[in-house]
Amino acid sequence: MAPILQIKDLQIDVKMDEEVLNVVKNINLEIGKREIYGIVGESGSGKSLTSLAIMGLLASPPLQVSKGEIFFEEDKDLLKLSSRELRKIRGNKISMIFQEPMSALDPLFTIEDQLMESLKFHTKLSKKEMKRACVKIIEKVGIPRPEQIMKEYPHQLSGGMRQRIMIAIAMLCNPKLLIADEPTTALDVTIQAQILDLMKELRDDFETSILMITHDLGVIAETCQRVAVMYAGEIVEETDVVSLFHRPKHPYTKGLLKSMVGDRSDALYSIPGKVPSVEQMPKGCRFVTRCPEAMDICEKVSPDDLEVADNHRCKCWLYQKEMANHV
Ligand code: SF4
Ligand code: MG
Repeated sequence: MAPILQIKDLQIDVKMDEEVLNVVKNINLEIGKREIYGIVGESGSGKSLTSLAIMGLLASPPLQVSKGEIFFEEDKDLLKLSSRELRKIRGNKISMIFQEPMSALDPLFTIEDQLMESLKFHTKLSKKEMKRACVKIIEKVGIPRPEQIMKEYPHQLSGGMRQRIMIAIAMLCNPKLLIADEPTTALDVTIQAQILDLMKELRDDFETSILMITHDLGVIAETCQRVAVMYAGEIVEETDVVSLFHRPKHPYTKGLLKSMVGDRSDALYSIPGKVPSVEQMPKGCRFVTRCPEAMDICEKVSPDDLEVADNHRCKCWLYQKEMANHV
């Protein structure tokens, strides 16, 4: 089946004074229909920038997409659309939810106003039909007494309820793709699980594909079929979720898995060091400063992104040793 979204060789640079520095590079991925596809990585890995590029929402300048294509529904390259065309797609065919629903909701307007706004922009429904659609979607996201909730303001709702409302707004126009950037990070654990369940349910009911962006491998395990691990602006490993958890290849992925709660009985492991800044990006492998398995070649030359097993890509010299010996 044709993918709903296909990113080819995406590169994002940042212009600083006279210099152009790279922040995201060589992003290749495909999201299938009804698939929940995860991007996991620490903050600063470029996962949010990638999602903003899909939405045409990169702050440009200083950020710019300097290379690549993003195909949506096969034929449309989102990077070639005008801002007017993009506005028609955003909130309609592709919608997004963020970590902090409070900042995405307008405190001065009722929940009804905020739902209606999106419908007014994207549909030609009558006021009565719009209201009915609002009630229906609020019920769908598991909020009882929708008529009552619609009269309320964001501050009157709990964090979990606000995130449900954000999801309702995002699902209102029946999007083909929902981008969820850390959708549960600000919520406590029980509510987190409920929101993730809700998203899976909506995927089934609406046949929506979901791009799940998170720093939390637990969220990935809970929801995704396939996952890309991002580090310092690059995808370092990509495969199905079972292979990632049981047969991780990249030293960074292994470190992330080790740092998951419950993996060790003693103090929680964390990968030493930090994601390099754009100004100090290593020349070869970007993980070299933190990698326990680094070799000489890693400092000098960036490894290729290769298929190392069936449907399993990894960008690391350990799997290109033959070549490493000859370079
Ligand atoms: Fe580690 Fe080298 Fe692989 Fe990079 S290429 S992850 S430094 S072994
Ligand atoms: Mg982010």
